[in-house]
Formats: sequence, C-alpha cells, structure tokens
Amino acid sequence: MRPHIADPSLKGKLRRRLSRLIHRRRANVRLDRPLVSICFDDAPASAAEAGDAVLKSRGVRGTYYICAGMTGHDGPMGPNASVAQIRRLLTEGHEIGCHTLSHLDCGDASTEWIDEEVTKNGWKLAEMGAPAPVSFAYPYGDVSPRAKRILGERFALSRGLHHGLITNGVDLNQAPAVGIEGPGGEATAARWLDRALRRRAWLILYTHDVSDAPTDWGCTPASLGRLVDRALEGGAEIVPVREGCRRIGALGGNPQPRGWPTAGSLSGTAGARYARG
Ligand SMILES: [Zn+2]
Repeated sequence: MRPHIADPSLKGKLRRRLSRLIHRRRANVRLDRPLVSICFDDAPASAAEAGDAVLKSRGVRGTYYICAGMTGHDGPMGPNASVAQIRRLLTEGHEIGCHTLSHLDCGDASTEWIDEEVTKNGWKLAEMGAPAPVSFAYPYGDVSPRAKRILGERFALSRGLHHGLITNGVDLNQAPAVGIEGPGGEATAARWLDRALRRRAWLILYTHDVSDAPTDWGCTPASLGRLVDRALEGGAEIVPVREGCRRIGALGGNPQPRGWPTAGSLSGTAGARYARG
C-alpha cells in the first residue's frame, strides 16, 4: 500500500481541484448549535478500543469508516478492527460508514470498479449487522468527477480530506474534514474547532490509530480527549456523520442505495453467492 496520502502528482492535484467544481450537492446548514463529528478511518483496532474508550467516557458516538476487506488484517497503522470489534461498535451506537471494500483509490478507478467495491463492502457490513451506510470517506481523500457522480447517488455525504467546515453551500459530495494526525494534528484540529464553534458550523474531524505512540496518521487518546472536551465545553454537540446529515436535512433527499440488503438479512450462503458473482 502506498503512503496514506492522495496521489501527490500534478495530475492528481488537478483532478481533485477540478472535481470540486462538478457533481456538487449543496449543503443547507442552519444549526442551533455547532456540530462536531469524530471519525476513525480504515479503522485500526486501536480506534475501536482506545478511540471508543475516549468517546464512551464522554457519552458520545463516532463514525468508523470501514473497509470490510481489510477487517482483522494488519495494516500500516497496526491491526485493523476485527469483525467482533465492529459488531461491538454497532451495539454501542457508533456509525459504520463506507470506505470501499479494499481501500480503493477512487481517483483512478472506473465507475464499475467503484460500484463493485462499494456494493460488496455494503454486503459484508450487512453480514456484520450494520445498516446500509449513508456516508462515505474517499480512501486517500482521492476523488474524480465520475467517483463523485456515482457516490453522490448512493450516499448522503462523501468526505474528502481537504480542510474546511460544513456550512451553507458546501459540497456534500466532496465534503471537507480536518485530520487529527501527526505531531501538529491536535493544534490544527483545535483551530478548526474554534472556528466551528464561532460560526455555529459542522466540523468533521478524522483520525486513524489511537495510541500513546501513534503513527503519522493517528493521535493519542489524550489529544482526542482534549478535543472532545473542548468541543463539548464550547457548546457543540458531538454526533455521528449520519446524525449530522439528518440535522441538515441531507438524509431525506438521498435515494436509497441500490440493491443493498437490510441489516442482518444475509446468510453466509447468500454472502458467498454474492462474492462469487
Ligand atoms: Zn483510509
């Protein structure tokens, strides 16, 4: 797997810039209180344990963007969450979002490939008891116009990695977010958090592993805890992305995902049959 960043070439940068101009879906944001969502991408087992513990101790829930094909395997940020851990996250009220089956770079992939990766991920998540995901995170933050078009038909919100707040007019098919990543991650996230509090906006924060010795893509439990406390003390409500979408009226207008099973409706045989097809 290449470093956990979007295609750094000029072509990649131009593609992401151009993508921001088309297949847009404008957010209509009028909030009584600022909103903050905490996301764990991929997601490493440490996010399902230490990350969950931080949120649980504050009585809030997060969003885990899962690649079901990487479940339980070792990744660049340690072992990924197991099926048992994902089931537990669900029972605790966390949201499971879609991050493709295999961490597909959607910037380069064909429409058919993206469709297959998202559909198969949805089936595998359903076997774990998850409802059909309503939000998506672009692996590597990489995106193309065709990816936006097909994902915009399926998800209420698709999240990139470029910084920003969700305010009126922001594109929900390429929504901004701020990482809690690396040595300066907490300070950067705190700056954006203060902006969100002042502007009564919705801020989506993301990280990966949560550990006392995090990778360059993760953060410590202490950093995460301080940010959650700062948000709550500043009057924000911390909600999963799905609930944020509901608050801004973005769930109703989104078509139901095509051909997705309801939670728990798949038998092992059905899953295996699908996997062959
Ligand atoms: Zn990822």
